[in-house]
Amino acid sequence: MIDFDALKKSAAAVADSALRATVDLAGKGKQQMDRLALENRLRRAQQELGALVYALHRAGEENPQLVQRYIDAVAQLDEQLSAMSEAACARQPAAEPRPQQPDCCPHCGAEVQPGATFCGCCGAKLG
Ligand SMILES: [Zn+2]
Repeated sequence: MIDFDALKKSAAAVADSALRATVDLAGKGKQQMDRLALENRLRRAQQELGALVYALHRAGEENPQLVQRYIDAVAQLDEQLSAMSEAACARQPAAEPRPQQPDCCPHCGAEVQPGATFCGCCGAKLG
């Protein structure tokens, strides 16, 4: 069966790391390293959320509070990443609009390589 104690501890760790990311963001600014670390945390939290939901489903059990805790942690990380993207975009003055070959992501506004298929900032599909 499911080890709920282990899952709860894990959920607490995820929430805690989300909290720490906020502090890092405030202290160090919006550097690429912070961003990558945050993306890794987000991916990890998403994986753990998926594993939890899967385990619960397999066992035919429900634990909405625990699932919600993971979702909150994922949402928090997601928001931090969005805030980072916006901050990155704010630093780069918008160029002249070039609809044929956008050099700014329409999703997050970050600068992208001309002809790029995906935004290197938020991963949105371009073009
Ligand atoms: Zn983008």
